[in-house]
Amino acid sequence: MTTFVFGGLMREQVCIYMCPWPRIQAALTDEHALNVTYRYDRGEPRMSVKKATSLRAAGKPAGDCVDCDQCVAVCPTGVDIRKGLQLDCIQCGLCIDACNNVMAKIGRPADLIAYDTDINVKRRQAGQAEEFHIMRPRTWLYAGLIALVAGIMLAALLMRNDVGVNAMHDRNPIFVSLSDGSLRNAYTVNLLNKRSEPRTFVLQVDNLPGAKVETAGQAGEENGSPVIEVGPDQSRQMRVLITMPPGAKVAAQTPISFKLVDKKTGRVATHADHFFGP
Ligand code: SF4
Ligand code: SF4
Repeated sequence: MTTFVFGGLMREQVCIYMCPWPRIQAALTDEHALNVTYRYDRGEPRMSVKKATSLRAAGKPAGDCVDCDQCVAVCPTGVDIRKGLQLDCIQCGLCIDACNNVMAKIGRPADLIAYDTDINVKRRQAGQAEEFHIMRPRTWLYAGLIALVAGIMLAALLMRNDVGVNAMHDRNPIFVSLSDGSLRNAYTVNLLNKRSEPRTFVLQVDNLPGAKVETAGQAGEENGSPVIEVGPDQSRQMRVLITMPPGAKVAAQTPISFKLVDKKTGRVATHADHFFGP
């Protein structure tokens, strides 16, 4: 539906009013930047082929633009590039091809519209030599900013934790007193394996000495903590029961931390929660 509305109905309005590219282009460009440019130093004054031919025969100046409007007709956003670089221009270069076809037909040199800089059009008009400054303060600045952002993104990617754990305490009941006097809290725990290989984790609970941690479907046990397997690029949701033995001193609310440890690499992910008592 969105494709139909954008491509079938709105068309160039998307490029002109919705696309951020023209705004970025306008902010980045300057008179030394290579853009699709109408070389008005060569094209003006525009006139018919016949008139231009007779003026040239008489040794008078005549522009190469024959005002055929082909460059405007082919432009997907309806820009007349002869009025200068505009926000609507998407730099597609179709006007360059259209004008080159016209130039070929009337026997004039190609590239009346071409990738050029504003400064060089002005310099040629003033009879000065062209100049190109590829590395300018702003190009160094943009290169530096792009390198900085790329570096931050790369660092974020490399430092990304490939283990994840989060837990949700049962809302009701928040604790259960068992017949033998022990106290139990239940949680729904989600384990994340962000690697493309199966991994084995140990689910530990910190700050609750003497607690027994159990879960259905655990692959084993290590020092009283369940050992759990999670498939490649998968998450696994489990019911986890934490039980304090009879007679253990339990506060009404004890902060605890679920700690998921990769048995092979030692990578750790934690999640803070609470253990509730009477
Ligand atoms: S296509 Fe070339 S010759 Fe025709 S109007 Fe555009 S700039 Fe002038
Ligand atoms: S480069 Fe494309 S969008 Fe820009 S004026 Fe030429 S045809 Fe139009």
